[in-house]
Amino acid sequence: MSEHELRVSKIRNGTVIDHVEGGQALNVLAILGIDGSEGLGVSIGMNVPSDRLGRKDVVKVEDRELSQSEVDVLSLIAPEATINIIREFEVVEKNRVTRPETVVGVLSCPNRNCITNADEPVETRFDVIDSGVRCDYCSAVLRSDIAAHIDV
Ligand SMILES: [Zn+2]
Repeated sequence: MSEHELRVSKIRNGTVIDHVEGGQALNVLAILGIDGSEGLGVSIGMNVPSDRLGRKDVVKVEDRELSQSEVDVLSLIAPEATINIIREFEVVEKNRVTRPETVVGVLSCPNRNCITNADEPVETRFDVIDSGVRCDYCSAVLRSDIAAHIDV
């Protein structure tokens, strides 16, 4: 086992989100809606040396697996991330995230005049573009502030 792996101690059941861009770990927790009040065991490695990324963050969440919509949003702030599902201390699944073409129903539009912010039963819908995501209804663009507009 390499020195890098040793920094991430083992969990019994849950999810390890690895290869998160350095500095994004807290945004990852925001996307998952985790603030500590749920009582889940959470550990975070920040700015851990990484061959692939230079510096990376690692987030481990015990007793929690991720939904596809959470993974889709994660991919927007951590495009290189790998999601490891752990059961009984073993990695049973290891997946790279892939950027979706659209994100439906998980982000709120930053434009207060957007129809999705009116009192209408309209689900938000964003197209994923190189620089971030763009609202399908009003073309407002979310870039680095994606995590602040999670609405899961
Ligand atoms: Zn909009």
